[in-house]
Amino acid sequence: MALRLHNTLARSVEPFVPLDPSGKHVGFYCCGPTVYDFGHIGNFRTFVCADLARRALEFCGFSVRHVMNITDVEDKIIRRVRETGKELRDYTRGYEEAFFEDLRRLSCLQPHLTPRATEYIPQIIALVSRLIERGIAYQTSDGSVYFSIERYQSDGRQYGQLVTLNFDEMRVGDRVQQDEYAKETAADFALWKARVPEDGSVFWPSPWGEGRPGWHIECSAMSMDALGSSFDLHLGGEDLMFPHHEDEIAQSEGACAHSPGVRFVKYWVHVAHLLVEGKKMSKSLGNFFTVRDLMAKGFSGREIRFELLRSHYRENFNFTFDGLAGARASLARIDECLEKLAERAGGTRATADPSVEKEFRDAIEDDLNVAAAWGVVFTWVKNLNKAMSEGGLTQQAAATALATWERIDQVFGLGRPAEVAAPDEVVKLLEARQAARKARDFKGADSLRDQIKAAGWVIEDTPQGAKLKKA
Ligand code: AMP
Ligand code: ZN
Repeated sequence: MALRLHNTLARSVEPFVPLDPSGKHVGFYCCGPTVYDFGHIGNFRTFVCADLARRALEFCGFSVRHVMNITDVEDKIIRRVRETGKELRDYTRGYEEAFFEDLRRLSCLQPHLTPRATEYIPQIIALVSRLIERGIAYQTSDGSVYFSIERYQSDGRQYGQLVTLNFDEMRVGDRVQQDEYAKETAADFALWKARVPEDGSVFWPSPWGEGRPGWHIECSAMSMDALGSSFDLHLGGEDLMFPHHEDEIAQSEGACAHSPGVRFVKYWVHVAHLLVEGKKMSKSLGNFFTVRDLMAKGFSGREIRFELLRSHYRENFNFTFDGLAGARASLARIDECLEKLAERAGGTRATADPSVEKEFRDAIEDDLNVAAAWGVVFTWVKNLNKAMSEGGLTQQAAATALATWERIDQVFGLGRPAEVAAPDEVVKLLEARQAARKARDFKGADSLRDQIKAAGWVIEDTPQGAKLKKA
């Protein structure tokens, strides 16, 4: 079997074949956080699933370029900036840092590129200009620019690729100014919003006067700048399907005039919502927990990650504290087994057990079927425990089992307890050391290694990258 993913465009599970003729390189864009507050664990369900998708692609042998934007200007942020009286950058930067810190706590790999919308204003303006030149966007008397769905469709293109829209209800020329609007509302949407007094100091000059970008155009500009006008995989929570992703397609395909058969994005993957007592976890409903809230209650980032990775990404996931406690117990069972294996294996090295690896791979390749993959892991753990309690597991077999876990863990990213418990300061030192090495500053890298050592940690260079271990 080869990797298959559910593509919202096709409304079915399809074989994953990247655009790259060599079949190796994959361009992957994930809509990042809106940094107006701390992310809640519903948001992080989507980011952990994005991390799972990237790791699964790498596990399957693809070379992934992972881009995740930071939405640091949009309606909600501007409202908060106005309410707090802060400058935009001062307001967003703290939440952006907190977001990356939470991402690390959940052991998500850092995307290769994390563009900020506010640093892409020239690209956004260029894209809007192209849409105007192509007759698909128009300026209104206040200096705003809107996307015309009617003109886009008359160009032979389809608005409503990811969702089914009711065009009978649509009146030509209906417009929406706000970034979020109801499903089925096929209305012209804002690409550039003319400056209004409530925007305070949040505005940029443009050919249409001072203003700011709409949310949707930000993602079209950043994704295409990073990955080209056509790329492989785009992921986000299911609430983004409409209008955000539908508008991204319309803007990008409208501006780039792709040839027939060529699309802005080949595979669209949407993550179902995390629910609390049957309702979507969201800030507006007030039923949310942040990663920090859960850590304050004594749960580790690793336990939260494990809980978020237990259910399939296309199934709604009901969050409960009982569930989280269950995650803690299950993870402890794996950890206990790994510890016993490490004791037995000593320093013996081995390669993964091919039959377990194959079963695991089959599950992951089947649209990231984590439930089946965990089934493989737990049966394997049970068999190992049995063999160890009966005294029938050799040193070599223990080493093989540890190598098998290393392989499985390339996808799950849970590590071993001591590897992930490093405090943020030490993780930051490790990142600085990696950056120094990349810049060939070996003296700096050595000094950072010493600082890490002084903090009680050692760096282990593994084929999967540098890892931290308690000294
Ligand atoms: P935001 O920071 O609001 O832009 O959202 C960041 C990501 O979290 C987006 O991909 C959303 O679709 C996703 N998201 C928001 N709420 C939930 C939820 N309850 N469950 C899963 N994903 C969510
Ligand atoms: Zn986006």
